[in-house]
Parts: sequence; structure tokens; C-alpha cells
Amino acid sequence: AIPLAGALPRRSRQGLVAWGDKRVTVGGSAPVRVQSMTNTDTADAVGTAIQIKELALAGSELVRITVNNDDAAKAVPYIREQLDRMGVSVPLIGDFHYNGHKLLTDHPACAEALSKYRINPGNVGRGDKGDRQFGQMVEIAARLDKAVRIGVNWGSLDQDLLARLMDQNAQRKQPWDARQVMYEALITSALESAAKAESIGLNGNNIFLSCKVSGVQDLIAVYQALAKRCDYALHLGLTEAGMGTKGTVASAAALAVLLQQGIGDTIRVSLTPQPGEARTQEVLIASELLQSLGLRVFVPSVTACPGCGRTTSTTFQELAKQIDDYLRASMPVWRARYPGVEGLKVAVMGCIVNGPGESKHADIGISLPGTGEAPAAPVFIDGEKALTLRGAGIATEFQQIVDNYIEK
Ligand code: SF4
Repeated sequence: AIPLAGALPRRSRQGLVAWGDKRVTVGGSAPVRVQSMTNTDTADAVGTAIQIKELALAGSELVRITVNNDDAAKAVPYIREQLDRMGVSVPLIGDFHYNGHKLLTDHPACAEALSKYRINPGNVGRGDKGDRQFGQMVEIAARLDKAVRIGVNWGSLDQDLLARLMDQNAQRKQPWDARQVMYEALITSALESAAKAESIGLNGNNIFLSCKVSGVQDLIAVYQALAKRCDYALHLGLTEAGMGTKGTVASAAALAVLLQQGIGDTIRVSLTPQPGEARTQEVLIASELLQSLGLRVFVPSVTACPGCGRTTSTTFQELAKQIDDYLRASMPVWRARYPGVEGLKVAVMGCIVNGPGESKHADIGISLPGTGEAPAAPVFIDGEKALTLRGAGIATEFQQIVDNYIEK
């Protein structure tokens, strides 16, 4: 028999990202988490808190903010305070680079308010040359019981490490391709840094790794190798994925391959927002990706056919959009009121060819009449034909049927 469809089981350790008495589990049996990042100036505490709230409401379960200077570090505790006051339940991750050790040391309230620190080993010394940046940050994380993401990026790779690996490669009888050396450098940087962090006293379960690159095939190659060589929880993201359709498709292509293989515990879709595009778009795409793969269920799904020459009116597209918008907009209230409602499946189809069949596979389905068909729209509930709608009020009546079904 053909094996049943589904992603492979995951094999990472489980860690915690905690704040106050709240926590988000990451890795192990926890669901793949959606992460996002603000693009406000963190020093603008109010503006940053507002954007974090928007991201959290859109479904971001972890939010990263850049902490790049003293003003940003000073703002962090106020941002946390405002979020708590607004009832926004999301952990904050501080994104640190060159001066993270100094900011965490000089601003203990910032170190405390953050739930997780992102450290880029390419941008802080790991002690190889007597520097203390990495060690200082990890010591603070260990003392305050914070999680740490060791986030390697090939745009800021540890140059000494890369030089060492290139020297080693030159000694090989059959040298590796330059790209393979780069892959090895990314993974070695992450693993050596993680081992160092554990040796300093950080709980290995709370160490998450990422090795971000901007090429789809490169990302897949690097993470497949990384996943084989450790059991740390992994954060996935195609860095600098780009804008619009290109960024969305490239991210989805790379992340889907890895997630299907059980690789990835948190994901971020790093889109460059187009003018006027909401930052929340990347959260919606990440959520949709996980739902499409059957890894998470966030909102009811609406199956709709693309339409073709058999349906020349736009009625069914309008109805599909109306129902999809309605279900999504209702979720904040419904989620609490009707447990399991996010698993609802609705079908809105354009003609008799696939309409009845697809509608029967859904919880509720409607097959609108195509060109030349009788002006009647059969409605299917739990796989059985329940009634037929006719006339101008089909959309309103169908929405009412969906409401009744959910209430029941
Ligand atoms: Fe065309 Fe009908 Fe198929 Fe929709 S269900 S794509 S209208 S043939």
C-alpha cells in the first residue's frame, strides 16, 4: 500500500521560552511555532509594543525585536510591561549582534524582560582570541534561565572559522566545492558555539540553532546536514527571501521540504514588506504554510475551485471570499467559544463537475450552478446532500448554514 501522507515525526529536544508564569514550548512534541520580527525602532517602546501586539494577534507565537543600542535596551522592559498590560501573551526575543554582551550587562532589566537571546556567533567573539562577548551573554542567559538561539547567517559568518576550514580543505586530496566548505562552516559555527554554551552552563534543551542562507537549495542542504548532527531544536527561515510572490514561494518551497522531513521547530518567513504591506503578512504566510502541510490548524479551511469556462459569473468566487473572510474574522471570538472550530472544512465550488464530490469531502459544501446548469445550489453537510439553495439570497443563507453548523 502507498504510505499515508504526512510529515515525518520530529526528533529534537524540547525547550522552553518563558516569561513571568507563562511559557511556550519549542521542539520535541511541541507544534512547530510561528515566529516573526518587528521592524520598528525598538527605542520607540509604544510603536514597538503596538506592532508586537499586531503580530501576536495575527498568530505569531514568538516575536523578536532588535536590541542594538542603549536606548533600545532601556525600552525593552517598558515594552514587556505594556504588552502585559494589554494582555498580549507572547515572549520577546532580543536580537543581539556586536554589543549584546555590553547591553545585557549594562541593562539588567532588559536581560530580565527578554525570554530568549539571539546570538550571532559571527558577530561576537567566541573566546578563541581571549574575547568574552559570547561567554558573557551565555552566562547571563544561564543565570536568568533564558533560552538562547545561536543564529548563524552566511552573510555574517565567522571569518576565522571559514579560513580554518578553507585551509583544511586545501589539504584534502579531493577538495570539497567552495559551497560545501561554506555549509560546513555554518554548521560548525552553530555546533561549536552550542557546545561552548553548554560548557558554560546553559541548559542544552534551551539552546536553539539556526543556519540561515538565502538560497532554497542551500538552505535545504544545510539543515538536512545540521539535523543529522544534533538534536537541538532548530529555527528555520530563508533569510532575505525577498518581496511579494518571489519571497513567499521561495520560503514556502524551502521550508516545506524541510518540515516534511521533520526538520524545524520554529519558522519565520522573512519577507521584505512592499510599500503599504502589513508586517503581519509574514505571520499569515507562515501559519498558512504549516496548515497546508497539515502540521498545525489555525483557521477553518475553505476549498474553492479556480473557476473555468464552465462558470462565467463571479458569484462563486465572491461567495468563497466572503465565507473565507467571515470565518477568519470570526476566529478570535469563536476560538474560545467553540473548541475545535479551526478544524472546520468548507467547500465553495463553481459547477457540477467537481462541486458535489468536493463538497461531500468537506464538513459543509456548496456547489453553485455553472453556465447552462439549472439555477440551483445543492448544499452538503457531513457528506450528505442537505438542501438546495436558489435565488438571490444564496450567499446570506449559506453563511447562516455555516453559523448554525458551528453552533451545533
Ligand atoms: Fe471549472 Fe467546475 Fe472545475 Fe470549478 S468545479 S474548475 S467551474 S469544472
